[in-house]
Amino acid sequence: MKNQYDVVIIGGGIAGLYAALNLDSDTKVLVAAKRELNLCNSSLAQGGVAGVLDLQNDSFDLHIEDTMIAGQHQNRREAVEVLVKEGPDDLRRLLDTDIAWDREENGELHMTLEGGHSRNRIIHRKDSTGDAIMVALVNEVKSRKNIDVVTECHMANMQECDSGVITEFITPDGIKAVGSSFVIIATGGIGRVYKYTTNSAIATGDGITAAYFMGAKISNLQYVQFHPTAFASKEGRERFLISEAVRGEGAYLLNCEGKRFMHRYDERLELAPRDVVSNAVILESRRMGNEHFYLDITHRSREFLLDRFPMIHQRCLLEGVDITKDPIPVFPCQHYLMGGIDVDLNSKTRLDRVYAAGECSHTGVHGKNRLASNSLLEALVFGRRAAEHINSRRDRDFCGDIRTTLSVGGAPLPTGMRTTVREIMQRAYFVIPDPNAAEKGLRKIKEINDRIEKGGFAVTPQLVEARSLSKIAEIILKAAI
Ligand SMILES: Cc1cc2nc3c(=O)[nH]c(=O)nc-3n(C[C@H](O)[C@H](O)[C@H](O)COP(=O)(O)OP(=O)(O)OC[C@H]3O[C@@H](n4cnc5c(N)ncnc54)[C@H](O)[C@@H]3O)c2cc1C
Repeated sequence: MKNQYDVVIIGGGIAGLYAALNLDSDTKVLVAAKRELNLCNSSLAQGGVAGVLDLQNDSFDLHIEDTMIAGQHQNRREAVEVLVKEGPDDLRRLLDTDIAWDREENGELHMTLEGGHSRNRIIHRKDSTGDAIMVALVNEVKSRKNIDVVTECHMANMQECDSGVITEFITPDGIKAVGSSFVIIATGGIGRVYKYTTNSAIATGDGITAAYFMGAKISNLQYVQFHPTAFASKEGRERFLISEAVRGEGAYLLNCEGKRFMHRYDERLELAPRDVVSNAVILESRRMGNEHFYLDITHRSREFLLDRFPMIHQRCLLEGVDITKDPIPVFPCQHYLMGGIDVDLNSKTRLDRVYAAGECSHTGVHGKNRLASNSLLEALVFGRRAAEHINSRRDRDFCGDIRTTLSVGGAPLPTGMRTTVREIMQRAYFVIPDPNAAEKGLRKIKEINDRIEKGGFAVTPQLVEARSLSKIAEIILKAAI
C-alpha cells in the first residue's frame, strides 16, 4: 500500500469493486477492506439481481412502479428511474463474465419472482448469487495493474483537506495515513447494531459514522428493513436468511398452529413486500401469544428444491431441518438499511471529494422499504456512476500533508458496550418500534458515546466499531423518537 492514490475506495464488496473497475485505467486506485474480501454482505446475497432484461414481458415503468410501491412512495423518483433504466446495461456486463447464471433448458436466463415484483425479473446463480458475482469481480480487479487491493486494512478516520482526503487505517503494521484526491465510501450496512441480523460481521456502519463526523449529510437511518424469514436459530448473532425467492417459488408462511395467516393482513399474501410480511408476523405472534413461525415449501418436488436452493438446503440440514420434508422455523430479523450517507445521482456527498455507494449510501432509490433484489443493482449502478463522475473530473491534484493523527496507545476498550447497544436496539427499534424503550435507550447510548469519546482508549478495530455502532444507534433512535 502506497501513501498516495488518485482514488481510495473503502470497502471491497460489490459496490467498491465495481466502482474500481469503472475508473479509468490510468487512475491509481486503492481498494481497502477491513477483513478478507469474501466477508461482506455481498457474498451473502442469495436471491439475485433485479433488472428489466425482457422487454416483451416486462417494462421499465412496471419495475419503477414496483420499487415505488415497496418504498411507500418515499423514494427519490429520479434515482429510481436511473436505477431501472441503466441497470440492465450493468447486468449485461455481468452476463459477459464467466458466472454460470441459472438458465432454462432453451438457454434463456431463468428469471425468478420475489415479494413486491409484478414480473419475473430476477436473475440468479442458484441461491448464492452474491458469492458468484464477488468471485467474478475480485478476479477482474486483481488483474488490473492500476488497482491495489489491501485487506485487514481498517479505516479508522477520514479528514478533508483542500486537495482531497486523508484516510487513516489500522493495519497489522500500525496506523497508516493515505492521501487521495477522491474517496468512495462503500462500507456496507449496519446490521451489527442489532442483536439478531442476517448481516456479516463487517456491517458496523464505520463509513457512515466517519462521513457523519466529516460533515456529510446522513439521511433516513431510521429506515431499517427487517426480513420476515430468517432461520430462527437459538444461538448466534448472525441469522441465516431463508431467501424471499423461497416464497417466490411458492412457500407458505405458517403460524404456530401450522396454519397460513397472511390473508388476515394483506391480499398479496406471502408475496407482499418485506415490511408488510414482517409486520404481519409480529401482529400474528401477538394474536397467538406465540413466536413460532414456519416457512413450508415441502409441496415442491425434492429434485426442484435441491436444484433451486442447494445452499439453503445444505445450511438447514446443518440445523437439523430438511426443507424437502420439514417446515423451516423462521422469524423476522434486521436485514438491510435503506438510509445512509446522502448522495446525488452521481453518488457524490455534499463534501466535494467524497462519494458513497452501496448499502452505506442513501440514493433514495429504496424509499422506506427496499424492493427485493434491488440492492445489488443499486450497488452496481451507483458504484459505476461514482467512478464515471470521478473520471470526468480534472482536479486530481492531491498535495496534502499525509500524517497520522491517531494513536494505538491508551486504555483497552472495556467489554460490554457493543452488547448493550445491541440489546437496546433489539428492544426499542425492532419491527414495531417501542417509543418508551427508545427514549430510555437513547439516554444510555448517549452515555456510551460520551465514554467512548472521552475515555482515552487505544485506537483499535474494536474501538472504531464500538464508536460506529453507538453513533448509528443514537442517530436511529433520535430519528425514531
Ligand atoms: C443474507 C443476505 C442476503 C441478501 N440477498 C440479496 C439479494 O438476493 N439481492 C440483493 O439485491 N441484495 C441482497 N442482499 C443485500 C446486498 O447483499 C447488500 O446490500 C450489498 O451486497 C451491499 O454491498 P456493499 O458493497 O455496499 O457492502 P458489502 O458487500 O457489505 O461490503 C462492505 C465492504 O466494506 C468493508 N468495510 C466496512 N467497514 C470498513 C472499514 N472501517 N475499513 C475498511 N473496510 C471496511 C468490508 O470489509 C467490505 O469489504 C442481501 C444481504 C444479506 C445480508
